[in-house]
Amino acid sequence: MVVARSRAELAAARAALTGTVGVVMTMGALHAGHASLLRTARAACDHVVLTVFVNPLQFGPSEDFDRYPRTFDNDLEIAAAEGADIVFAPTVDEMYPGGQPAVLVTPGPLGEVLEGATRPGHFAGALTVVCKLLHLTRPDVAYFGEKDYQQLVLIRAMARDLDLGVEIRGVPTVREPDGLALSSRNRYLSPADRERALVLSRALRVGAEAGAGLGESPDGILAAARSVIAQTPGVELDYLVLTDPDLGPAPQHGPARLLVAARVSATRLIDNIPVEIP
Ligand code: AMP
Repeated sequence: MVVARSRAELAAARAALTGTVGVVMTMGALHAGHASLLRTARAACDHVVLTVFVNPLQFGPSEDFDRYPRTFDNDLEIAAAEGADIVFAPTVDEMYPGGQPAVLVTPGPLGEVLEGATRPGHFAGALTVVCKLLHLTRPDVAYFGEKDYQQLVLIRAMARDLDLGVEIRGVPTVREPDGLALSSRNRYLSPADRERALVLSRALRVGAEAGAGLGESPDGILAAARSVIAQTPGVELDYLVLTDPDLGPAPQHGPARLLVAARVSATRLIDNIPVEIP
């Protein structure tokens, strides 16, 4: 496994790869969710490239860029165990040698809603770094978690609208046995907050069961999910929405997506689940 710190080192290691290449992009602090992306890439591609970069461009001024967890030695162990060929871990200067770039990728209207409404500029920052990393790593396929569903939909749209010539694949969310979606930010949760945070995945499950099992309408699905969260003090709901799989208006029946965001103490958590509207 080659650990590349500079673009030049990455280019040299990438040039030595023959066959198909899959890329997994992360901000480090790897957990079993990231390992699942690596494993999915490993199973489908001849080679796997992992990127580890905490991208300042996608953090707001009051967000956790400085205290975002950095666990690089452990990340390398997971990368090696999952069979990554290259780990690209550049510094901020290596990625943005001229400082803040003047040209950014604009996500369009879908970048302004849901997460984008609370985090102005977040998706422009995320799409810009994903675009740069796609150009630097030149993969055939790029793997992203359904955990960050809006990001996945926007990256798909970017690849399509800008003819990036890469296939974007989503990978299902990996959860703790009790349902909590794995996230690098879960380590900010106190034991009591972690218990409260379980309400997010529980509400999504109740909503999905209301649809598939009980035959509820879109309004019934939302009401069922919302009632679960309303019962939990200390959980401040930001949004709970039902959409179509591309984050457009919810269909009257067929495949849909139920998405939630909430603040548990100081930590903002997101989760989502596929739902079948009967
Ligand atoms: P990040 O945690 O922001 O570094 O995410 C890097 C990639 O891992 C993104 O594509 C995420 O959607 C994905 N990811 C994060 N958490 C999970 C999870 N619990 N299950 C599956 N993929 C995940």
